[in-house]
Amino acid sequence: MTYKEVILKKGKEESLKRFHPWVFSGAIQKIDSDIEEGDLVSVYTLNGELIGNGHYQVGSISVRILSFDDSPIDEDYYYKRLEAALKLRKSLNLLRPDNNSFRLVHGEGDFLPGLVVDIYGKTAVIQAHSPGMHFARNHVANALIKLPESLVENVYYKSETTLPYKAQLDAQNDYIIGSYDTNIAIENGLKFHVDWLRGQKTGFFVDQRENRALLEKYAHGRSVLNMFCYTGGFSFYAMRGGAALVHSVDSSSKAIQLTNDNVSLNFPGDERHKAFAEDAFKFLSEMDKSYDLIILDPPAFAKHKSALKNALIGYRKINAKAFEKIKPGGILFTFSCSQAVSKEQFRLAVFSAAAQSRRKVRILHQLTQPADHPINIYHPEGEYLKGLVLYVE
Ligand code: SAH
Repeated sequence: MTYKEVILKKGKEESLKRFHPWVFSGAIQKIDSDIEEGDLVSVYTLNGELIGNGHYQVGSISVRILSFDDSPIDEDYYYKRLEAALKLRKSLNLLRPDNNSFRLVHGEGDFLPGLVVDIYGKTAVIQAHSPGMHFARNHVANALIKLPESLVENVYYKSETTLPYKAQLDAQNDYIIGSYDTNIAIENGLKFHVDWLRGQKTGFFVDQRENRALLEKYAHGRSVLNMFCYTGGFSFYAMRGGAALVHSVDSSSKAIQLTNDNVSLNFPGDERHKAFAEDAFKFLSEMDKSYDLIILDPPAFAKHKSALKNALIGYRKINAKAFEKIKPGGILFTFSCSQAVSKEQFRLAVFSAAAQSRRKVRILHQLTQPADHPINIYHPEGEYLKGLVLYVE
């Protein structure tokens, strides 16, 4: 297969030889003059050895390698990768009558850099994070439809906010195939509305599924505060777990509406739940009630390395508030989904917050992203979700 060529500087193939899929702009000696953003390219070492084929992009990551050989990147190529992705999810037992939502493709974690696919019932929601994947969207959609047992009937493309702004691709969110069927999906037997037309990410945070299931086990008889609740995932699991009361907080009134709708869908008329559209820091500072189970699942405080310092201060402050207010014998589920914040840095921020409160704190569980968000062993940057479950005396 002949694609346009990218030639590396001498010695710059080391990480690629270890299958790390990114070519940084500083590693490039020469590129074909007519290369355009999003093109498929072949990457070669200076002495002409083929490294693989991938998508070209303007920016610090110049190429994302898809195949470390000369495979053509066509619809059949996407189909084979999707088939492998599905095989993994089947082996995780995620396709069940009581569970039809999961991540089918997690970018580099499924050897498809730049692509995310979440499944909600019969609908696949695609997100492209690179111009190359934007141009490949129809191939991906067609391949999704061909997956066995009519797994996917509708494909919604949702990349307005995920593509590099400078590429000016003007991606419109829309159905590529099929249309709206039902927007109610099921996770571990609990129902939720997925607003893939307007919601954040692909409409629901599927990455907290296992952590919600763990929370359910701790909920019995407890008063629960779910901060940064978004669509209320942790709240309805807490209710099924027998919580005495559940309060959900989010600064977005749209999120509060989604949470109320999801709670009613599962527990109509249940008066244990109340939701508040308020700022989390303000709510924690001003609340006069104390809770015996608190969830802190804030948005990524550091979207880039440059924001790291402020992010760590943010994590310390919000956790300090929770330690100050939680009842003795309380349980805190605390998370960071910032890729730029390491496990150690997050733990240090929580440790500082605990010390500040002078409470006796013990770690019960160390949490991470679920197996349908796999980490490519050659691409450790794929690890992003971190959580701690703490017992506070
Ligand atoms: N826990 C959720 C996901 C949280 S996403 C789940 O399981 O699905 C982060 C949420 O934090 C978003 O809904 C966003 O609206 C909310 N948020 C952002 N800043 C906030 C703030 N200062 N106070 C309260 N909520 C905030």
